[in-house]
Amino acid sequence: MPKTVIVSNRLPIKIKEEHQKLTYQPSEGGLATGLGSIYKEGDNLWVGWPGLAVNKNDQKQEITKKLASENMKPVFLSTSEIEDFYEGFSNETLWPNFHYFNQYVIYDDELWKAYQKVNRKFAKEIENVIEEGDTLWIHDYQLLLVPQMVRESKPRISIGFFLHIPFPSYESFRLLPWRRELLHGMLGSDFLGFHTYDDMRHFLSSVNRLAGLGNANGQVNVDNRKVMVDALPMGIDFDKYAASAASPDTLAREVRYRTSIGDHKLMLSIDRLDYSKGIPQRLKAFESFLTDHPEFREKVSFLMIVVPSRDTVPKYKQLKEEIDLLVGRINGNFGRLNWTPIHYFYRSFPLPALSAFYRMAHVALVTPMRDGMNLVCKEYIASKLDKKGVLILSEMAGASKELSDAIIINPNDLDQMVAAIHEALTMPEKEQVERMEIMQESIKRYSIHQWVRLFMERLKYIKSEQVGLQTRLLDQELTNTLVEKCKSAKSRLIFLDYDGTLVGFNTNPGDSKPDKELRGILKALTSDPKNKVVIISGRGRQTLEDWMVDFPVDIIAEHGVWNRKHNGEWKTLVKLTDSWKADILKLLEGYVNRTPGSFVEKKDYSLVWHYRKVETGLGEARTRELTSHLKYLTSDKDLQVLEGDMVVEIKNSQVNKGKAAEVWVDRNPTELVMAIGDDWTDEDTFRSVPKDAVTIKVGGTSSVAKYSVGSYLDVRRILKELTKK
Ligand code: UDP
Repeated sequence: MPKTVIVSNRLPIKIKEEHQKLTYQPSEGGLATGLGSIYKEGDNLWVGWPGLAVNKNDQKQEITKKLASENMKPVFLSTSEIEDFYEGFSNETLWPNFHYFNQYVIYDDELWKAYQKVNRKFAKEIENVIEEGDTLWIHDYQLLLVPQMVRESKPRISIGFFLHIPFPSYESFRLLPWRRELLHGMLGSDFLGFHTYDDMRHFLSSVNRLAGLGNANGQVNVDNRKVMVDALPMGIDFDKYAASAASPDTLAREVRYRTSIGDHKLMLSIDRLDYSKGIPQRLKAFESFLTDHPEFREKVSFLMIVVPSRDTVPKYKQLKEEIDLLVGRINGNFGRLNWTPIHYFYRSFPLPALSAFYRMAHVALVTPMRDGMNLVCKEYIASKLDKKGVLILSEMAGASKELSDAIIINPNDLDQMVAAIHEALTMPEKEQVERMEIMQESIKRYSIHQWVRLFMERLKYIKSEQVGLQTRLLDQELTNTLVEKCKSAKSRLIFLDYDGTLVGFNTNPGDSKPDKELRGILKALTSDPKNKVVIISGRGRQTLEDWMVDFPVDIIAEHGVWNRKHNGEWKTLVKLTDSWKADILKLLEGYVNRTPGSFVEKKDYSLVWHYRKVETGLGEARTRELTSHLKYLTSDKDLQVLEGDMVVEIKNSQVNKGKAAEVWVDRNPTELVMAIGDDWTDEDTFRSVPKDAVTIKVGGTSSVAKYSVGSYLDVRRILKELTKK
């Protein structure tokens, strides 16, 4: 039975050593809750670091045994690995870079080496447990290299990856000296999930610029493997938080806390100690609010919970000191005997306490400078059973993309934050309920369970696509067998695409004329009376006619619009109109005027916008604009907009290479049909030829073709073998 293996830096368990005895406590984090339904089933497993340095072997054995009974497998890390891989490269290099705090990034090759070493260690542990047919789900920034490392030893395994923090813009990511290795590590996955569309977009842009790979609707072709990238915002267990908010323990706590704090309004914030959370900025906004709105003094308090985190790291220590100073200053300046402006706790609380705080808070202040998602704001919403309360949310948190009914602020804009606090404290109850209802609906629907379901579905989908499109690479042995089979046929119909199949790509399309070698091949092929050769191309008929003048080949030009038997007349298969061309040409010329390096190619029944020579990025941007423009303009016409390799082509939708090839197959009964092509317009040809035809895809294994080869050079090699006496 295939199993699913979850991998994350930390296992969902807290292990403590007390009086030389180990105690185990399950962790209550959102991820552990969401993935509980997976890893606890059957042979499924969660692989990760148990959270403490273990040196003694007998202790390692004890932990391994205990965890095995809970479907977990530990990866033990030494103290120096924890320091260099986890606290070092993960938290002092990747974390600040991915959160746009590049001034805090440590660039240290030793830390990078430790990161590689520990990622390798994880990959090894995974390889020991994983088998053909299993599914792997790897989590987060500490393990970016693991997908590729596992892929190398288990090429067919299903690998999903989710990044829980933001993926930065290329401008930030490019600063890392190890950016390419990191990216290739991630691309070992089959499916990559990010919290927001922006994260996904940034990732694809880095893939484009650093790995030179484009994408079509979030799908990237990596070493002939289709990889899918998508935005999948992580949710919370809505029911758990709603139930906790209604529990007797929570209600009792609320009464106790209220008695201590008093009955004025309450604002709440809960974060880990981290510079990405914008805690000093929030305190300054509260200070300004009390200065600008003296009428709210003694009427509102701010309950600020900061959960200790990484406070041995100098940056975090400094931040803690800054927060302590600010809280002291504000309480010192504004406090009264009967009123404390800020109730500040530097510690963590159990769920019933958090639930009581969520219930009590009139306003939640979630104002990070950057946050992958932020779950606190979602928990606040789920806990508001009476729907009264206001969320102030930073636009820099991933959650802001889903929660547009919050008061959205920019945490760098102090005045805006002050105005938001005022708006929140004076918002009519009716409006609070209206906004809260919408946000609750959304959080209920996109729960953590839905997130897990969707992730697994997407991974399964892309894997089935890959399998359906898998071709067999033609190595020498297989080529020999195939060539023998072709040679033994009494008659052969051979469809050959031109660009990318018989010749390589040239920046200047005019340079693709048949060279000496190709001319020799075509001559040999066409001089064998058993062969009928058909050049099937997207190029215009005149070019093909000129280039093929010396060879008795049939030609299908313009993707099937025109066809010609050797020395025959040019004909069209169906009656086509070109009355649409003038309007579309005008539009395309407008794009050429705005886009240096681009040009329009005019064919009889199609127009092509080329951007091969346009600045990287600009061409793609213009293409997006152009295609949406074209889709609108062509919606009432029988036209098709095709995005090819650095081109956008507009053509009549009644024709394609497949339809044209079908006619040839019908009219020329042959023992063997062969079709060779490199781009997706050739997929139509592969589909239309008989089932037993020999179909070969050039430069990729993802195709409906049966076989694949690396480049046009391999095609030439095969054709030469075929013509050998
Ligand atoms: N949390 C907790 N105890 C506390 C404070 C917070 O368990 O005393 C939890 C909180 O309920 C939330 C998580 O910590 O689920 C914080 O997640 P978030 O995404 O907001 O921030 P992160 O710390 O992951 O950056």
